[in-house]
Amino acid sequence: MILPNMNYAELKDSYLFFNISKKVKAYEASRPGVKLYRMGIGDVSLPLADAVIKALREGVEDQAQARTFHGYMPECGMPELRATIAGYYRGRNVPIGDDEVFVSSGASDELGDILDLFDRSNAACIVEPAYPAYVDASVIAGRKIVHLPTCEENGFLPEPTADLDADLLYICSPNNPTGAVFSRDLLKKWVDYANARGAIILFDAAYEAFIDDESLPRSVFEIDGARTYAIEICSLSKTAGFTGTRLGYTVIPKELTRNGMSFNAMWTRNRTTKTNGVSYIIQKGAMAVFTPEGQRQIHENLNVYKNNAKTLMSALDDAGIWYCGGKNAPYIWMKCPKGMDSWAFFDFLLNEYQVVGTPGAGFGACGEVFFRLSSFGNPDDVQEAARRLRNL
Ligand code: PLP
Repeated sequence: MILPNMNYAELKDSYLFFNISKKVKAYEASRPGVKLYRMGIGDVSLPLADAVIKALREGVEDQAQARTFHGYMPECGMPELRATIAGYYRGRNVPIGDDEVFVSSGASDELGDILDLFDRSNAACIVEPAYPAYVDASVIAGRKIVHLPTCEENGFLPEPTADLDADLLYICSPNNPTGAVFSRDLLKKWVDYANARGAIILFDAAYEAFIDDESLPRSVFEIDGARTYAIEICSLSKTAGFTGTRLGYTVIPKELTRNGMSFNAMWTRNRTTKTNGVSYIIQKGAMAVFTPEGQRQIHENLNVYKNNAKTLMSALDDAGIWYCGGKNAPYIWMKCPKGMDSWAFFDFLLNEYQVVGTPGAGFGACGEVFFRLSSFGNPDDVQEAARRLRNL
């Protein structure tokens, strides 16, 4: 008899977005026609940049002619795109080789798939509150999880402690959901910790493009010593609105080896076995993101989201509410007022102010009294939501 992977039975049901949508639907049914201001979404709202659309169209045209047609693409990515992404790093003085970049269909796929590279006995440390995929992918892989809760006092930015016993270290900066960003000094402490025990950092840089402050690291590879202790997973989803278009990249330095095995070579082997590459048309669109015109256009969109964050932060400042994030990050992590827990505050905001956000409890127990606001909404809606939040 076939046996299922019983690790699935260990997964906790995620009621977060299901419950949000159930409560929103019930509200809409009871108050037809009342407009809701949705500040909870993690998806982008602006369309793709013109430069990307033009490149996608050209890609479609190429597929229409025998002369320019592309079939299977190289599994690890089109050489031009790998070189372009490596150049994007080198432009920031981060020396990455073209063949250290692996083009993917997005960060989510990679965050789970990358666990293939590590022995199951290696425990994963997850800094919480956390993007739920880290825990779920580790549970499915049957891996031991060390939860590392963070709090208001450390600004949701933990230091590694001497008693921390884990070899795979998930770090997300700028963080989803807290919007907290690791400083160079703090990230260096994690690299040193990884160095001391031969651990590996899985650095999720999905929101790197939101960092304006040049003193903050956008890549783990800006930290000395990281090339032998880290893998970086990144995405064009939030940088360039590719949530529905799907393209990401993973960086694995050649120096990253253990027991005589090269993780770069292993990942090449993994991708050539388990994927047949990302579509030519999408990779062509992604190339356009990195052109000067593409960069100018995506930054115009990013500025819309950054202004939304400023609008929401100014409302919370006026209301005297504690929060972190919002600067160098698209998420604002606010403390629920009046001692409410995050679901009680969700109901209160929905019923009294018609504003929808995301309860912090959905990102781990230490998020119980916090609430996530996102800056990815429509600017007019954000203005109105902010006006209402000011009255909190
Ligand atoms: N990592 C973090 C921290 C995210 O918040 C998200 C999406 O919201 C992802 C990864 C997934 O990105 P992608 O759309 O590339 O799968």
